[in-house]
Amino acid sequence: MANNPAATTRTIDPDEEAALLEAIDRWVEREVQPIVMKHDHGDIYPAGLVEQMKEMGLFGATIGREYGGLGLPATTYASIVSKIASHWMALTGIFNSHLIMAAAVERFGTPEQKAHWLPKFASGEIRGGLALTEPDAGTDLQAIRTSATRDGDDYVINGTKTWITNGIEGSCFALLVKTDPKAEPRHKGISLFIAPKQEGFSVGKKFDKLGYKAIDSAELVFDNYRLPKENLIGGVEGQGFYQATGGLELGRINVAARGVGMADGALRLSTEYAQTRRTMGKPICEHQAIQLKLGEMATRARAARLLVEDAARAYDRGERCDMEAGMAKYFASEAAVANASEGMRIHGGYSYSKEYEIERFYRDAMLMCIGEGTNEMQRIIISRQWVKRNPA
Ligand SMILES: Cc1cc2nc3c(=O)[nH]c(=O)nc-3n(C[C@H](O)[C@H](O)[C@H](O)COP(=O)(O)OP(=O)(O)OC[C@H]3O[C@@H](n4cnc5c(N)ncnc54)[C@H](O)[C@@H]3O)c2cc1C
Repeated sequence: MANNPAATTRTIDPDEEAALLEAIDRWVEREVQPIVMKHDHGDIYPAGLVEQMKEMGLFGATIGREYGGLGLPATTYASIVSKIASHWMALTGIFNSHLIMAAAVERFGTPEQKAHWLPKFASGEIRGGLALTEPDAGTDLQAIRTSATRDGDDYVINGTKTWITNGIEGSCFALLVKTDPKAEPRHKGISLFIAPKQEGFSVGKKFDKLGYKAIDSAELVFDNYRLPKENLIGGVEGQGFYQATGGLELGRINVAARGVGMADGALRLSTEYAQTRRTMGKPICEHQAIQLKLGEMATRARAARLLVEDAARAYDRGERCDMEAGMAKYFASEAAVANASEGMRIHGGYSYSKEYEIERFYRDAMLMCIGEGTNEMQRIIISRQWVKRNPA
């Protein structure tokens, strides 16, 4: 298998990993679970949990130790994401998007950019995300229109980004722009900047969403926003499309890990409910119709976990794993949707009450099929890779 230039080979001592995952379990149980419903229903940003996440080092989870991060391998990181997502998926978005921004700087930034930004990203002092999508460009990212025009030692940026996770609470974003709108092929005219909030950078509307509550998704507006040339990631124009999509393997493993967590969480809630709810004189888990559902849900959750572990291990070995990460993302996100949906049926009428948690999984799960490349595109990418690896 070809090497993956974007990946870094990382390992962790098994005892250290076990202690870390146990600490995450304890934190989720003590701090997250008791407040999730209040924050989800009220769409309230979990500022207190963010402070705790800073202390635990989660904002530097995948940033190298030399920059103050935890330097975790993808396998350990995926386990952390799954554990948190099995209780509250939205919480993982606060550090996932931030870490994808950080990964772009760590992989493609100049030594000066890494030294300046990464320690601040790792500590959580500066938090943010990835600003790629525009009102008329999501899947077709090469159609973006936000422009950066060179003016002396600066670039002047104009345009609008939409649906940006952490858009309100974050203070810095990896911003995808056109430095040469006429370039052919189009990707050669695209560049990626480190864009802190300052004059010319404002937040437009905040989206009112079906799910993924409490975490802010917003429009970002750039009006003669001026950045020094030192903020161009890697210092060379025309690399932005590669830099933004170069992080997608890790991004897909992240989303897949969220899918695993959600599939597990929906299974956990349904298993508990099926053993306590009684009809016809017995717990509903003793009815065959419910047993068929739980059997499928448990199998799906396990298969999704194994696919994610497989992709993450390949990533940690430094292998190219776009197909494996795509399969994991596709399968695990669909598993989350299917398990949440079956969980709703198992909960019967109570599934429709906000007093039960399963409805949050139902509202949140669909996002996993859209983010980090829609599942339609995912299958096309898998197929292209599959055919390439299996020439006739
Ligand atoms: C809650 C939320 C958070 C988000 N966070 C971020 C963020 O932090 N940063 C960011 O940059 N973006 C973010 N996004 C945007 C997200 O990445 C895009 O919505 C996604 O890439 C899809 O783009 P689109 O919505 O423009 O859909 P479109 O690209 O318009 O696609 C519409 C439909 O057409 C299909 N389709 C499109 N092209 C093809 C094709 N060539 N072949 C087959 N099918 C195709 C798609 O699969 C989809 O089913 C977020 C979105 C949401 C909902």
